[in-house]
Amino acid sequence: MTPKVYSTQEFEAEYTYNGADLGMTWSPEKTFFRLWSPLAQSAKLRLYKSGNIGEKDIIEEINMTKDVCGTWVAEVFGDLNGVYYTFCVVIEGEEREAADPYAKAAGANGCRSMVIDLDSTDPEGWEKDESPWSENKSVTDAVIYELHVRDLSSDESSGIEHKGKFLGVIEEGTKTPGGKPTGIDHIKDLGVTHVHFLPSFDYGSVDETRPDIPQFNWGYDPMNFNIPEGSYATDAENGAVRIREMKQMVQGLHKNGLCAVMDVVYNHVYHTEEFCFNCLVPGYFSREDENWNYSAGSGCGNDTASERSMVRKFIVDSVKYWADEYHIDGFRFDLSGLLDVVTINEVIVEVHKIRPSVIVYCEGWDMPTEVTKPGVELAHQYNSAKMPGSAFFSDTMRDMLYGGAFKKEEKGFAAGKKGLEPLLRDCFLGMPSWCKNPFQSINYVSCHDGLTLFDKLAVSAPEADFGERIRMNKLTAAVYILSQGVPFMQAGEEMLRSKPLPDGSFEHNSYNKPDSVNGIKWNDLEKPEYQKTFDYYKGLIRFRKNHGALRLRNAEEVRSHVTVIDGMEEGLAAFHIWGNINREKAEAIYVIFNANSEEKEIKLPVGRWNVCIDDENSGDEALYHAEGDFKIPPISAVVMVK
Ligand code: CA
Repeated sequence: MTPKVYSTQEFEAEYTYNGADLGMTWSPEKTFFRLWSPLAQSAKLRLYKSGNIGEKDIIEEINMTKDVCGTWVAEVFGDLNGVYYTFCVVIEGEEREAADPYAKAAGANGCRSMVIDLDSTDPEGWEKDESPWSENKSVTDAVIYELHVRDLSSDESSGIEHKGKFLGVIEEGTKTPGGKPTGIDHIKDLGVTHVHFLPSFDYGSVDETRPDIPQFNWGYDPMNFNIPEGSYATDAENGAVRIREMKQMVQGLHKNGLCAVMDVVYNHVYHTEEFCFNCLVPGYFSREDENWNYSAGSGCGNDTASERSMVRKFIVDSVKYWADEYHIDGFRFDLSGLLDVVTINEVIVEVHKIRPSVIVYCEGWDMPTEVTKPGVELAHQYNSAKMPGSAFFSDTMRDMLYGGAFKKEEKGFAAGKKGLEPLLRDCFLGMPSWCKNPFQSINYVSCHDGLTLFDKLAVSAPEADFGERIRMNKLTAAVYILSQGVPFMQAGEEMLRSKPLPDGSFEHNSYNKPDSVNGIKWNDLEKPEYQKTFDYYKGLIRFRKNHGALRLRNAEEVRSHVTVIDGMEEGLAAFHIWGNINREKAEAIYVIFNANSEEKEIKLPVGRWNVCIDDENSGDEALYHAEGDFKIPPISAVVMVK
């Protein structure tokens, strides 16, 4: 047989299973198991005492019965909560043992699955937990903060007890030695609405049996898609603990008015051949040619065949599970350009049946991959019109403001590069060339990938002194935070985060670097320039949240309410945003960006304006009044209302 069989209509017609009971279904009286493995000649369920794959502690081996659509079933009486298990199939005479692709719990390092009574993992009050995000909000009302669980607390100056853990994310009242709030208090004070977590499902690159040694990885190497990462739990050996603690984290965020977004990495897996799904249905989950060579567009060795019916179902079921069981408020699809349009749209439809307020956005780079069926459309940003329920990262905004992501020395707009004004205007309107609606543009400059914004400014504008780089940083932030669309930032950008290396250079790919590089250095807040930058970001976010005219909900609203000021000289851009956005207050807003290193004079539209944001301060209150001719300070944003 060749992999091509998997993508034929005949195979799909015979072997697509649509039921909701794949994996294990626990009750106190019995546990039911269903495995999808259409090529297996026989299948067994193995029960174990421990989750450690090295232990020869099998309890029982049970023959599974062939059932409909390529599935196998078994039923075991008694209370199996906490019992570990694997599936063992024989395919073409070869025995293959693997974890359950649908597992909801596992032992350390995720090689053996675990039967779980999910209700027993609910923290106190979980039934009353509610998302702070309501259905009547638009994704353009969101302000997203991208965080790695470990980075928040790993530095000594965080004052957080549960360092590197889910529980550390929700410790309240923590401070730097000098008394500056850290952790969740800091995030709440900043005013963001959604905390987006780098991979927090079970990934493979950190050894969960060695919590005693510091280990770091971003986690883009999925092992178990439906289980939290064990190294973020206080006990990785007991499969129930990580589940409870991740729920506690979500609950704690919700109590603080914050939503939780998961970075989900369905586009590839850690080990192609060893991945349990590929083990139990050889090669089914991943795209490959007739010679079993895997397609590797992600650069990670394998691309997921989302166009196959049972892979698509797996992805949809997985997202639904996180939204339902863990109350997750949003999903960021890693490298969605390797997945397909139908899958992303089905995810959105299905997850909205659980909770319509869930937000979805995609890292939609257009990448090469070998799809296994004709007519498959890939879920990249250039197909955004076909996926109106998802937003996409704007590399147009990033490259314009930050300078090229791949050319370290290239300057962006705020660092003084000229000729970017037309792009800036498109981006400010939330509609760069590939995007027809502002609610589909994730506006950002820095994320976990690449240099931090402040490091990028150091590399691309070496002639600028520290103070000038802070001005560039603030101007950059003002542009993307005040633009139409959805602002997104890397954690710590608001306090000039840096990832310095011992040789004086900066790390641009810190995926496996130690805490000394990745951890957020909270004691920086004790330096006045860092605290002032934080205050400036906070003021920008407050201004955005208080002015509905900056959070317009569609292209039509933008066209009728935002006017681009023509005839500005190089390095300047200005916008007049007209009021009567009846959700909040009627108003006019005038926004000016000056990337020149000298002051510029412009004529304001008629009337007396209240300046709320300038080069030094930002917020929602009037700092002073302006009328007629106005001088914009060098490298700054000025925003006024009337
Ligand atoms: Ca893991």
